[in-house]
Amino acid sequence: MQKRGSAQALREHNRKAVLACLRDQAPISRTRLSARTKLSPATISAIVDELISDQLLVEVGKERSRGGRRAVMLDFNEQKYFFLCADLAVDTISVALVNLRFQVLAHRSRPVQDRRDPALLLQQLVETAQEVLATLGAGERVLGMCIGVTGVVNKAKDTIVYSAAFDIRNLNMRAELARFFDFPIYTFNDANLSALAEKYYLSSLGYCLYLMIGPSLGAGVIVNGDIYSGQSGWAGEIGHSIVERAGPVCFCGKRGCLVSVLAQYIPVGSAEKLRSTFAWPSGRDFYASSAYEHFCYYVGLIISNYVKIFDPETVIIGGVVAEVAPQKLYADLEACVNEQFLLGDQPVSILPAQVKANSVIIGGAYFCFDNILL
Ligand SMILES: [Zn+2]
Repeated sequence: MQKRGSAQALREHNRKAVLACLRDQAPISRTRLSARTKLSPATISAIVDELISDQLLVEVGKERSRGGRRAVMLDFNEQKYFFLCADLAVDTISVALVNLRFQVLAHRSRPVQDRRDPALLLQQLVETAQEVLATLGAGERVLGMCIGVTGVVNKAKDTIVYSAAFDIRNLNMRAELARFFDFPIYTFNDANLSALAEKYYLSSLGYCLYLMIGPSLGAGVIVNGDIYSGQSGWAGEIGHSIVERAGPVCFCGKRGCLVSVLAQYIPVGSAEKLRSTFAWPSGRDFYASSAYEHFCYYVGLIISNYVKIFDPETVIIGGVVAEVAPQKLYADLEACVNEQFLLGDQPVSILPAQVKANSVIIGGAYFCFDNILL
């Protein structure tokens, strides 16, 4: 019995190694899968056959000729299995179906009707999700759901510990949604999910501060290749870092939070207004204004504080601002951080996110993939 159990555990372990390699490398041939996972060709062949018969994987033609026999390429079946991913942003609820190739297929969004009414928010989320599910074809299946939300999320408990934007405390999303959906449901912070999408896109983020600017304001912290969210989910909750003792009162009730200070200069809570403010070249005047100077000052201040705490290799700006801002923004932020706030000669480089639109949704799909399939 002992032997059979350990053989099964080994098979399971190998299957997960192959799935992880496919997640990062597909389309890929059996030979390369074997080289990358260091599993024998016979083991790879058996696992691939099993994944094809489970309809997770399909053969997608042959690799480009390098002389000799051209190998058959494998990729995820883009038509059979999906993740349902939601983004509860400050002003908009978005839900999408994402396939195992991390492509967004169906997408629906609607404005948040009342930010201070969690029951209505849940109802809107369920209705939007059901609309998206109605686009599924016969035989297509959802493997799981991930909800990204602005605020502090304890991912082990799938609970929103605190979201000032939505006036939510200790809301267990899985428990609330279980009567509507029969697949696994996960909840995670939106900036953390965007950082996760970026991490897989770049495949080389060791230590990184990912700053989401618009319509929520938060950070994803990557330490040694993994998202670091702290003991209960507070890590990266930069929007409510206090930057001015006598600053304006924030919607969380405290005074001088970064989000409330920035709101004096930019429309941080509205995706649409942020887009037009930061658009280039139509918003050229904004980049010469004192509002922009203040924006750079306060964002630079937060970046430099984080740099001194955990010394990241890279600082990445994501969110709505990264969709529209020109390269000038990153150069100006770099100059501000390096000149005003840093000591010594280790300059910080600040880059735009590569995954711009739907980063919370794509990150949610990666989160589901890792939690359900690995
Ligand atoms: Zn606040």
